Amino acid sequence: MTTRRDQHGRTQRLELADQTLREWDAVVLATTYDSVVLDRSAFYPGGGGQPPDYGVLLWGGVQARVVGVRKGDDLELVIADGDPHPPVGTAVRGAIEDDRRTALMRTHSGLHLLSGVVFRDFGALVTGGNMEPLEARMDFNLPELPEGFRERVEAACALEVGADRSIDVSVLPRADAFAIPDIIRTATNLLPPDLAEVRIVDIVGLDTQADGGTHVASTRAIGTIEVVKIENKGKGFRRLRVRLHDA
Ligand SMILES: [Zn+2]
Repeated sequence: MTTRRDQHGRTQRLELADQTLREWDAVVLATTYDSVVLDRSAFYPGGGGQPPDYGVLLWGGVQARVVGVRKGDDLELVIADGDPHPPVGTAVRGAIEDDRRTALMRTHSGLHLLSGVVFRDFGALVTGGNMEPLEARMDFNLPELPEGFRERVEAACALEVGADRSIDVSVLPRADAFAIPDIIRTATNLLPPDLAEVRIVDIVGLDTQADGGTHVASTRAIGTIEVVKIENKGKGFRRLRVRLHDA
């Protein structure tokens, strides 16, 4: 059996193909003392700096809260302490907590936009990052802090948000993905060597990355990006802390 790119263990990952999906039907394939495994799940399991989704499973008038996801041999949805567990074979309705997921999609897309702007305008590469809903940090290799850096970054981000650039997701054969100069710049050595296909997230005309996260459909949905703080982390590294606001 070949493993599909959108398959994790026995679970088909629905969110990779449809980032707008919030509710779906599934069947319980396995359980552990604190988790369940579904045949189909749209819970983003975490990765690439984006934390996992929260949500619920519903069946027969009963609800279990999903408070995390573990990536083992299977995708294990962690059930809140004390909540009921659906037995193996149960047909359940899965639902993602929309506020959190949508905020994380805006934030993740905002970080791609930020990294695209800082590379284009200042030539600085990203060295790391992490996010929570509507708050994030991103580290850049930037030995000298240019004059007016914070204001220039905020203004450039605002322009790109206002331009409402499309954010396209596609899946390419590995060789085709690595033919894209931006992919070589951002991710080549982070990708597992056995990966036959690469998922590409493209802020059209600004930033192209190999990425497994969930994103909004266009830059206007990100909202306003505020640079809250710039920290000097030494050895030429600057940490930008950003906050997102509704436009
Ligand atoms: Zn990303």
